[in-house]
Amino acid sequence: MKSILNDAATRSIRYLETLDARSVAPTAAAVEALRAFDEPLPQTASDPSDVLRLLDEIGSPATTAMAGRRFFGFVIGGSLPVTLAANWLAGAWDQNAGLGKPTPSASYLEQVSLRWLLELLQLPRECAGSFVTGATVANLCGLAAARHAVLQRAGWNVEADGLFGAPPITVVIGAEAHPSVTKSLGVLGLGRTRVVKVPVDGQGRMRVELMPAIAGPTIICAQLGNVNTGACDDVAAICRRAKPAGAWVHVDGAFGLWAAATRSHAHLAAGVGEADSWATDAHKWLNVPYDSGLAFVRDAHALKAAMAITAEYLPSESAIRNPSDFTPELSRRARGVEVWAALRSLGRDGVADMIERNCAQARRFAAGLTAAGFEILNDVALNQVLVAFGDAEKTKRVIEAVQADGTCWAGITVWQGRTAMRISVSSWATTDADVDRSVAAMVCVARTA
Ligand SMILES: *Cc1c(COP(=O)(O)O)cnc(C)c1O
Repeated sequence: MKSILNDAATRSIRYLETLDARSVAPTAAAVEALRAFDEPLPQTASDPSDVLRLLDEIGSPATTAMAGRRFFGFVIGGSLPVTLAANWLAGAWDQNAGLGKPTPSASYLEQVSLRWLLELLQLPRECAGSFVTGATVANLCGLAAARHAVLQRAGWNVEADGLFGAPPITVVIGAEAHPSVTKSLGVLGLGRTRVVKVPVDGQGRMRVELMPAIAGPTIICAQLGNVNTGACDDVAAICRRAKPAGAWVHVDGAFGLWAAATRSHAHLAAGVGEADSWATDAHKWLNVPYDSGLAFVRDAHALKAAMAITAEYLPSESAIRNPSDFTPELSRRARGVEVWAALRSLGRDGVADMIERNCAQARRFAAGLTAAGFEILNDVALNQVLVAFGDAEKTKRVIEAVQADGTCWAGITVWQGRTAMRISVSSWATTDADVDRSVAAMVCVARTA
């Protein structure tokens, strides 16, 4: 056991230490070499150290360097070393973290992390929380609690009786709501398209003055951090309209909610604590390993009503909160361990510094690309930069060439009709020098593409 675990540590460390010197995207040859995995199911056992060697020699080169310093695709953080180390240790523990009583460490660390997160993100201290796979499932948790609460107020028990014959719920979303919100609405039987869409402004923010009049059971989905522009809805204004009318306000803040943890950008999340439920990711801006999402719900009873199950064989009474009372999953890994490690090591200042540094680096990208004559399509208010290198065809060619060049990686999007390269700065490891080096590579590639 000792030798294979030491071998894994050695190989992991070598992987991370050499990331900076390799192409961010894997080479075509490395991807081609994956065919070596496509062998018949082995009949007999083989040496575990050979298994690990195969994994590293064939698997590692065909990864994208998402853990590295110059990956700017999709809003993907890296992993702070202490969180990866905590992940290794928690892996060794192999706790079934769904159950509070049998897994005191894992459950207690979640409970403490939850308290810290509510403080850090300016959310009501009475919130319940779910440690889930990502913001998609966190949106599902928040909206499931919303569905419970608005129907309960209308005299309907949705968990017991389902939606057939239930009073209708009006669901209001911004035209730029993330597809994981509409997917969650679909899973919950509320319908992906059976929604009232509020038009957005040029940055993708909901135009609050165009929100419909609210009557009857209503759920409103706001957003902090548009995936393209990084723009944040005016949650305070949305709540001023919605709350007196009895609507439930859910905030998808997958990365934008972290603005609340800063001094410089907290205004983007002003009034966020007035909402009823929130979804965010830890694997994005908190820089913990995949996968790690978080849901917070002010009305703990509503979340528990939507999620908890009971069975004779499952312990329910416990001094430590029972994590599976708040999540779609029963059995699951101890996600709170890495969240705790990140918060314990960074502290309030460290989190704020990391977020603010990435925001400054996004502005640095925008300034460098503007100086080189390229057009920035968004207000760089957070960590997102949209750049066009010319028309759609030219921009597409540049993006492909940037990815092939391998200095850095950024993806493609279409923003309000314009094809753009989308740069997301969300890694603890990115330095200003990395930004400058990436801008230089983009400019150089763009001249010839
Ligand atoms: C990333 C993102 C999601 C989905 O998060 P996952 O962690 O991929 O499930 C939802 N909403 C927004 C705004 C996002 O940026």
